[in-house]
Amino acid sequence: MRVSIFGTGYVGLVTGTCLAEVGHDVVCVDVDAGKVERLHQGIIPIYEPGLEPMVKANHAAGRLDFTTDAARAVAHGEVVFIAVGTPPDEDGSADLQYVLQVARTIGEHLQAPTIVVDKSTVPVGTADRVRATIAEVLAARGADIAFDVVSNPEFLKEGAAVEDCMRPDRIVLGVDDPRAAEKLKRLYAPFNRNHDRFVVMDVRSAELTKYAANAMLATKISFMNEIANIAEKVGADVEMVRKGIGSDPRIGWHFIYPGAGYGGSCFPKDVQALARTAQQVGHQPLLLDAVEAVNERQKGHLHELVTRHYGDGGISGKTFAVWGLAFKPDTDDMREASSRRLLAQLWESGARVRAYDPEAADEARRIFGDRDDLVLCASAADALDGADALVVVTEWKQFRSADLAQVRAKLGDAVVFDGRNIYRPEDAEDAGLAYYGIGRGRSV
Ligand code: NAD
Repeated sequence: MRVSIFGTGYVGLVTGTCLAEVGHDVVCVDVDAGKVERLHQGIIPIYEPGLEPMVKANHAAGRLDFTTDAARAVAHGEVVFIAVGTPPDEDGSADLQYVLQVARTIGEHLQAPTIVVDKSTVPVGTADRVRATIAEVLAARGADIAFDVVSNPEFLKEGAAVEDCMRPDRIVLGVDDPRAAEKLKRLYAPFNRNHDRFVVMDVRSAELTKYAANAMLATKISFMNEIANIAEKVGADVEMVRKGIGSDPRIGWHFIYPGAGYGGSCFPKDVQALARTAQQVGHQPLLLDAVEAVNERQKGHLHELVTRHYGDGGISGKTFAVWGLAFKPDTDDMREASSRRLLAQLWESGARVRAYDPEAADEARRIFGDRDDLVLCASAADALDGADALVVVTEWKQFRSADLAQVRAKLGDAVVFDGRNIYRPEDAEDAGLAYYGIGRGRSV
């Protein structure tokens, strides 16, 4: 099938590449000419496991092309995806300017019946706005061309995006016309071989499904962070509590890890956007507001542990090794990352930072620029050189098996703040380190 995808970010590039991998003829279009040029040269703008070789192979095979030419992309696609960003507006609602811009562009260039698929995360009612926008532009052109607008929210996880795209848990199709569902089922058939993953529904329900999924996941995280903070104060260990509740199949093991707060480009903005949607229809989103408030507080928790440890002496002049800058492992994405809050707070308190992240160094350089109080290090061990304390912010696998005795030997103040509970307190203490985790009451 001939497919075009507007937006060559995490979602657009991965979706386009996976569709090409299973044999479709894909054109990815982006307004960022530099990105398109780099993709032509085989330079992949994001880090995603498995993505680079797949992009290169499909590009070389002629099934995956990149362009800034929107007219060409619209003419190419029997199915045209919208996968552009929907960042938060000033009031937290989703900013639809990029989505509606693409709708206008499609209206300007549409020549033949097409299915327009909204893959961006958008508030309920957006498909109607996309449809109205395309229709308006077509009418202004005096053109009468049939088109459908389908909602097909994306559930891939950064860090496992290729795997999620090739083996999705479910493929949600929000359609008005069953014929559009049939066409998309044919498009996605290669990803749906061993059991039926399609969930076909009306467009509004599909749009809400995406927000409900992210809000549920964010709720689990904030819930565990709430329990962790209580555990810390009552002298309980949240890691024991986690094991105690996860064994109940109604609760389950997934997503009940306490930590330094959730970040990334999705949970924070999607929880906020859903809350704004609720308010707009006269519903007070008590739970969503609490999920967000708990997360905001949690992002400051590591700094609180640090200042509690150092007490009256303060941390001005201290140097902190920070392991992990990305908002989670296996990505270079630092959007809304907890590390950003921590670094800002450490700097504000007069401390210096030696940071290491396996993939996010370039992104950190882009965000923070050159600063005297930040050194981006080439390895985890390097970050410890001359540091007084270690703070673990992102649970990259390579940090899990750190030699804590070596860590102890390098740190001036022999203290570790473990923002993801990747170490056992007793192991850290045996190595001679003072240990602070999240919700580990026994250590306070
Ligand atoms: P992104 O910021 O990585 O990429 C968006 C791309 O769209 C950019 O390259 C930008 O240049 C391009 N763009 C903007 N306007 C354009 C236009 N008019 N024409 C062509 N290209 C244009 O965004 P992302 O992380 O891929 O997210 C895209 C959407 O998918 C968002 O709504 C997001 O909420 C949703 N989503 C993201 C994830 C994720 O893990 N990142 C997962 C599921 C859903």
